[in-house]
Amino acid sequence: MRPPELDPLFAPVSTQPGIGPKLAGLIARVAGRETAEETRVIDLLLLAPTSIIDRRRRPGIALAPPGTIVTLDVRIDRHEPAPRGRSNVPYRVFAHDDTGEIALTFFRAKAAWLDRLLPVGENVIVSGKVDWFNGRASMVHPDHILALAEAAAMPLVEPVYPLTAGLSPKVLRRAIEDALGRLPQLSDWHEPTLKARNTFPAFAEALADLHGPHVAGDIDPRAPSRRRLAYDELLAGQLSLALVRQRVRRLPGSPVVGNGRLVGAIVQSLPFRLTGAQQAAIGDVAADLARHERMLRLLQGDVGSGKTAVALLSMATAVEAGGQAVLMAPTEILARQHFATISKMIASTDVSVEILTGRASSRERAAALGRIADGSAQIIIGTHALFQESVTFANLLVAVVDEQHRFGVHQRLRLTAKGTAPHMLVMTATPIPRTLVLAAFGDMDVSRLDEKPAGRQPISTVSLPDERIDDIVTRLEAAVGEGKKAYWICPLVEETDASDLMSAQARHKTLSARLGPAVGLVHGRMSGPEKDAAMQAFKSGQTQVLVATTVIEVGVDVPDATIMIIEHAERFGLAQLHQLRGRVGRGQEASSCILLYKAPLSETARARLSIMRESEDGFRIAEEDLKLRGEGELLGTRQSGTPGFRLASLEAHGDLLELARNDARYVIETDPELKSARGMALRTLLYLFRRDEAIRLLRAG
Ligand code: ADP
Ligand code: MG
Repeated sequence: MRPPELDPLFAPVSTQPGIGPKLAGLIARVAGRETAEETRVIDLLLLAPTSIIDRRRRPGIALAPPGTIVTLDVRIDRHEPAPRGRSNVPYRVFAHDDTGEIALTFFRAKAAWLDRLLPVGENVIVSGKVDWFNGRASMVHPDHILALAEAAAMPLVEPVYPLTAGLSPKVLRRAIEDALGRLPQLSDWHEPTLKARNTFPAFAEALADLHGPHVAGDIDPRAPSRRRLAYDELLAGQLSLALVRQRVRRLPGSPVVGNGRLVGAIVQSLPFRLTGAQQAAIGDVAADLARHERMLRLLQGDVGSGKTAVALLSMATAVEAGGQAVLMAPTEILARQHFATISKMIASTDVSVEILTGRASSRERAAALGRIADGSAQIIIGTHALFQESVTFANLLVAVVDEQHRFGVHQRLRLTAKGTAPHMLVMTATPIPRTLVLAAFGDMDVSRLDEKPAGRQPISTVSLPDERIDDIVTRLEAAVGEGKKAYWICPLVEETDASDLMSAQARHKTLSARLGPAVGLVHGRMSGPEKDAAMQAFKSGQTQVLVATTVIEVGVDVPDATIMIIEHAERFGLAQLHQLRGRVGRGQEASSCILLYKAPLSETARARLSIMRESEDGFRIAEEDLKLRGEGELLGTRQSGTPGFRLASLEAHGDLLELARNDARYVIETDPELKSARGMALRTLLYLFRRDEAIRLLRAG
């Protein structure tokens, strides 16, 4: 249960004065929440300003630089209303100070309101942007107009928040002020010594600084109050991950030890030799499984490094030990592909494989669930979503999660929160830098596949403007004639009026006109069986060109496809381009990748394409991506709407991450149930940063 003193912070923003459902929806967008209902007062408190407006400049009218914000002390001379019926002509109020004259300009303003606000002969304070036109100064819609007596009420330095159309800065600032007023007295969750060493102010003080900056330096991420809040957020993240880990580890686990029978048979029948890195990873997993503690291991391997084989051999160990294993994939296409590959790899053994996807009829599903429950299904493959529901296993020992970067941290928590907590192997192709692994996954053990299978050839990558598309099609035609296979990626499924992007459907049509029936199509709006048929046709060679959207981005494995053409490459992020390119170069043949772009390229798009040309090293690409885009997107969190970090930036606060990790570890060692005074305060911290799923684990365990 959330401590009741936090209730005011978890009221929907729509309960705040002046915030109706419509504004709440707009605030949701700014705060990165899905719905207005989910958007709570605390979200406003944790919304960081991006800059400030400084109103301290008071140069006098004549010396006000054009385009800058100034504050002026002026006397009102006369009103010049718009002529009747001409609403496009502004209402002007002329005023002066010792240095000159200025026109305060209002469009569609009510005369009565202006009369009251700007009485002729009175002195007022106005603040806003000054423009100069033909030697005359004007200020259109001043941000603030105050009588002299109220001048002190005007904020001289104002925070500026990210905005969305329809939400005025004033409304947002007022709502944040109201939110600050609701902050209850909270006892601090940080050790006094740590606070002192880092000159952290109290939480309430840090929030007050965040929303009430005095100078630009106050919103600098390195300011002590910003660092304090970043540390709060990082600690909440590390602590929740540490709690999950503790829970997983604490569940009684008997060592899973295989006899080598299946693993040996599978390795024998593989059409290739395992790389040294694959063998080392399999060794890591086997050692983990043999322990009394539960495994929590991350397998990092660039696209095409052969993670599937490691997954299969890990699962085979579970089967040898008399148990079951699951493999969870992020998409249906991938689940089916894994099912097909793995069925082939174990063909020489008596292991039974089951596939469980959303597409099964209810009868098939019931039958599959029956086999999973009675243990006759030994390796179970499915989409991640399915395992969130209640699937009962006879004896689940190992769970493998493929392409983890697609899932948020929260989904992982949910999975582990379920009754069964098997040994976990999490696989990701995103070669996440170490700090990000720590931030997103916590203290996981990591195995790396840093060695490509032997015989791989470099992929030659070029970028071309889309005027060259005819040349490309001609070359593609020749390649198809030689029996080669190609992917052709388009950013959209259908043509939309709003966009001049070439859609997959339209491209499929034009390519079919040239190349005939060798051209297939797969996209996200197709039914499951249609997608399967398209993938199957491409795999078997019935089609040789597969026009696709990014449904094939992750994991798809057709080793004899050697050409990747990406249309509107400027639209894709680096990580995505790397993933897409990773669909080729998976066999012995030389491969190529053509990045077609629409000119003119933005600065970042140009940088992305040149990094792609220069490097095939997923790690380097990820680091460049981090520089270009920021960490949230790299983990796929921004796209999927999972809240990433609001206040912490790993670039600015990397040092704090390490600190937070050690702090979390210390807490778990000394107060595993969060029962001490500090432990209770830390629970509050988890709630504030919405990491409270971890608290539920405490109670359950
Ligand atoms: P990813 O790490 O991207 O999931 P996959 O497991 O799909 O990679 O493997 C990519 C391709 O490489 C597959 O066709 C697979 O059969 C092949 N492969 C895996 N391991 C090896 C190896 N040691 N030698 C040669 N080919 C391999
Ligand atoms: Mg894979």
